[in-house]
Amino acid sequence: MARATLKRTVIAGGQVYDHDGDTDQPAVADILIEGDKIARIGKGLARRAAGARIVDAAGKLVIPGFVNAHYHSHDVLLRGSFENLPTEIWFMYALPPSYPKRSKREVRARTLLAAAEAIRNGITTLQDMLTILPFDPEHLDLVLDTYAEVGLRVVFALQFADLRALDRVPYWRECVPKKFQDKLVAAADTSGVKVDPMGNVEAAYRANKDRHPRLHWALGPTNPAMCSPASLARVAAFSDEHGLPVYTHFYQSRAEAVAARRLMTKSEGSLAAFLKSVGLLNRRLTLAHSIWVAPDEINEITNAGAGVVLNIASNMKSKGGIPPIREYVAAGTRIALGSDNSACSDAQNMFQQMKLLASMAAVSDPEPGPPSAADALRYATLGGAATAGLDHTIGALKPGMKADLSILDLSASSFLPLNSAARQLVFTEGGGSVESVMVDGEFVMWKRKLTTIDEAALKAELKAVMPVLRRDAAQVAARNAKILPHLLEAHRRSWSDDLGMDRYVGRYRS
Ligand SMILES: [Zn+2]
Repeated sequence: MARATLKRTVIAGGQVYDHDGDTDQPAVADILIEGDKIARIGKGLARRAAGARIVDAAGKLVIPGFVNAHYHSHDVLLRGSFENLPTEIWFMYALPPSYPKRSKREVRARTLLAAAEAIRNGITTLQDMLTILPFDPEHLDLVLDTYAEVGLRVVFALQFADLRALDRVPYWRECVPKKFQDKLVAAADTSGVKVDPMGNVEAAYRANKDRHPRLHWALGPTNPAMCSPASLARVAAFSDEHGLPVYTHFYQSRAEAVAARRLMTKSEGSLAAFLKSVGLLNRRLTLAHSIWVAPDEINEITNAGAGVVLNIASNMKSKGGIPPIREYVAAGTRIALGSDNSACSDAQNMFQQMKLLASMAAVSDPEPGPPSAADALRYATLGGAATAGLDHTIGALKPGMKADLSILDLSASSFLPLNSAARQLVFTEGGGSVESVMVDGEFVMWKRKLTTIDEAALKAELKAVMPVLRRDAAQVAARNAKILPHLLEAHRRSWSDDLGMDRYVGRYRS
């Protein structure tokens, strides 16, 4: 977007959170924003910036916008629908392959709803790994236009798979009767329909790469076990050619580790070695979940410069186990945080993710140690930015970086008394104190009012689209009820294979 003259804003007199400064009592400073960037941070800038809009931030805390590094917008409207479903079974209830094609109206409503929630919780960048099934370029256009209109920054990947789940999820073929087998699908399964999903991805990128200034492209093969080596090699080549980040799910469940041992025999049962063999294990790769990772794989990932995005809320909800948080910290692995699907975790809220990360580390190792609250804040901002190669652009409040930030009310109960901004952001705050949110120098929420989303109209749209979705979800649930005992049997069997490690806390062993 061309700007004749740079718009100037000064956020004046707030406590400005600096990852490298005093994270307990952040210093009071003014932030001068010119156009979409932070120009200066210091004292007395408000007095000297003639013609600038002055935002009084006395009594406020200014923090970098959160980067939610793992999220999917396809199932937002099913939030609160499920519990007690292990990962592979949850796929069958919640994800697009089980559902008929959605209406454009529904696609727009779900994209807007989660964007509104994200902004209210101080998220300025979403990594949306979206499944569109059947693929429809008009749905893609609609989603990208919706993000452009809302003003959020988005790291966008079309999620795809080209193998059927039936032979990739352990024990599904053995446990599920033949008459149900054609219903078995995973996150982005095309159910045997002959399509070229990576071809769609390449065409989508070429057609839309410069579509709007806050759109950053990425690649999203759903999971190494669900994609053929040929398609993953194509992803690696496309990523190399265009410098695109790659996100994939990685050891999200115990079943995925069992699958790796059985299917990746040429790579000695290691998903990390398999990803290396197809050319994907490099600094552009980010591995979502990364729970059932073996110790030598942690080193392999870290040495290659690849990173992990941890989604603790989603993992606990879907019985995934606890990732080896302390081991990643000790190895120096790049760490980011994500909220994952609204139909799983069930919130687009990085305060929850930070608290869970810091708390879970405490029960995965009896020795006190990192990550600290300040570390969690780094992962939720700079760590997420690094997954897309944007850590010199967003994730911290520094001159030269984009003006993506939130202004929080320090008179909110979470911060009384203010003993430590970092600890109270991570362990006390839930999002209610977020007053104003800026992306690219523009306020997308100003004093708790969203400036780009008409929330009353959105609520009316939800009323209009939910009856059809509820009807479809009920049909999916009725169909799945007949298959559920068999899926549970497959799930139990996947716990019987010995992996030589555990990712559950306190599991009784006689
Ligand atoms: Zn995911």
